Amino acid sequence: MDKVMLVTGGSRGIGAATSLMAAKYGYAVAVNYRRDKEAADKVVAAIEADGGKAIAVAADVSVEDEVVAMFKTVDETLGRLTCLVNNAGIVDQPCPVAEMSAARVSRMMAVNVVGPFVAAREAVRRMSTERGGAGGSIVNISSAASHAGGGAGAGTYIDYGASKGAIDTLTEGLTREVAGEGIRVNAVRPGVIDTSIHASGGQPDKPQEAPAGIPLGRIGTPEDIAEAVLYLAEAEFTTGAFLDVDGGV
Ligand code: NAP
Repeated sequence: MDKVMLVTGGSRGIGAATSLMAAKYGYAVAVNYRRDKEAADKVVAAIEADGGKAIAVAADVSVEDEVVAMFKTVDETLGRLTCLVNNAGIVDQPCPVAEMSAARVSRMMAVNVVGPFVAAREAVRRMSTERGGAGGSIVNISSAASHAGGGAGAGTYIDYGASKGAIDTLTEGLTREVAGEGIRVNAVRPGVIDTSIHASGGQPDKPQEAPAGIPLGRIGTPEDIAEAVLYLAEAEFTTGAFLDVDGGV
């Protein structure tokens, strides 16, 4: 069976590294992005230059219709989906709960929770052997923040941590729901990884400041996470697993 992977937020950071590595593992890759088409096109071009197959597909994962349309595009251009990587995610500026608006929390949940749920739904509908599919796997990108109450230090990202806690629960529950339908569900929980997400969360220096608290003495690279994602995508007897890839924190 041809291997087809959809990576949400595949245009930058962890998603881009995962897309590039997936192509080396023989996947045709759908590189999803929200607005940075140029970055997605670059990932696609790198895969094609290496002899692989990839497409860039725009969709805001927080918008249900766009997610549905994205899956249709993948069906029509790459064929039967075999792996979904629920990677797209956001943080916001550090903010204590006492100051947190409902609009902020809703946006966080729409992108980091509702998006992955809807994408998982679309993947299950295609992969489930009870629905005529041929099985497959889902890898969810959670975070060390899911069990740390948000970012390190008070007043940072509790909403983000809560959204990743929901991803852990989705992973745990969906594992049992679809194990009998040929679908494996696993999660990676990255620690501090060197991507631009920290700048978008108002902490551009976080990657430089982090190593002191990390037993392995360095922050992670996007490739460190991509390796874990590809392991879980390929590991035929592994489901319901959480891989903490955080340098030993
Ligand atoms: P990043 O460098 O900021 O990249 C985020 C990616 O997600 C981009 O491709 C972006 O596309 C896409 N994206 C954002 N909002 C989207 C939306 N609404 N719909 C579709 N795509 C969207 O982030 P990253 O650090 O690689 O993070 C990737 C995942 O790892 C996230 O789930 C994050 O929570 C998790 N994580 C990261 C770290 C870390 O230290 N970096 C640690 C733990 C967990 P556009 O550029 O087109 O918007």
